Amino acid sequence: MSQTLITKLEEIKTIAVLGAGTMGHGIAQVAAMNGFRVVMRDLEDSFLDKAVAKIAANLDKGVARGKVSEDSRSKALAAISTTTDIAQACSEAQLVIEAVPESLEIKNEIFAAVVATAPAGAILASNTSSLSIASIAKSIPDPGRVIGMHFFNPVHIMKLVEVVRHEGSADAVVECACEFARVIGKTAITVKDTPGFASSRLGLVIGLEAMRMFEQGVASAQDIDTAMKLGYGHPMGPLELTDLVGLDVRLSIAEYLAETVSPSFAPPDVLRKLVEEGKLGKKCGQGFYEWKDGKRV
Ligand code: NAD
Repeated sequence: MSQTLITKLEEIKTIAVLGAGTMGHGIAQVAAMNGFRVVMRDLEDSFLDKAVAKIAANLDKGVARGKVSEDSRSKALAAISTTTDIAQACSEAQLVIEAVPESLEIKNEIFAAVVATAPAGAILASNTSSLSIASIAKSIPDPGRVIGMHFFNPVHIMKLVEVVRHEGSADAVVECACEFARVIGKTAITVKDTPGFASSRLGLVIGLEAMRMFEQGVASAQDIDTAMKLGYGHPMGPLELTDLVGLDVRLSIAEYLAETVSPSFAPPDVLRKLVEEGKLGKKCGQGFYEWKDGKRV
């Protein structure tokens, strides 16, 4: 283990969040709300501006509901800075959390740049929903510092973080990541590095079956979702959840699990078709449902 490896929560002051999309902005928000400095990085300033606006809107809602104080809102926003320069994002980070699209190629490209710019002992975490952490770690010197930290959407509301350990993950790094998750108000579970971990693998079984049922005309999207909400007590139906996650994200996960776990995860035609048509769910206004201003119409 490297001498300089970060293994204590007290050592973590600055967090680099790479990718400021659905997940990245939420991770930045919860870290900033709990006293960490955060540098968010994305490809274009306009993406970063949008992410900051979403964080501000979430915090405003929290203030309006009496769950966030004015002071915490201002402090959280002041703790977040943005950049398009990966070196600037990583150079002072003790913890780097990657939340770029679900592609091993893109993630490996990002981590190569992270290794060149982040402090040698920084913990490197991927928010991947399904991909092998070992495949990310293998090209990183000192792979013991690489782990999965799988947050859930919306990050400021969902309580779970799956901490994923590959065979070479250092125990102290895994423990430090669990501690970090607790300090930002989450419950951490530790999961072995297997495709889809615990949550995506199970969640996708229901999600993909719901899409097949929708394709076969078993019931409307709304009625399939209501079946799981009222029949099984799920807070949200599987098709609405797919819209929230992003159809492109779910398609990538399904393709990966079909290849690595079982052909039963093969994506249904309706999922491919909607993605081809650019109907990616809530983030672009149309998926299995129509969305306007963040709400179903
Ligand atoms: P997203 O498409 O909303 O956001 C990805 C962001 O990464 C975009 O802003 C994009 O501009 C940016 N990006 C693309 N290439 C980049 C690069 N080279 N450098 C920096 N930024 C880059 O995706 P998302 O839904 O936030 O998913 C991100 C990761 O989180 C994926 O691995 C996904 O599987 C995982 N995840 C998603 C969910 C979910 O519900 N959406 C839940 C848990 C985990």
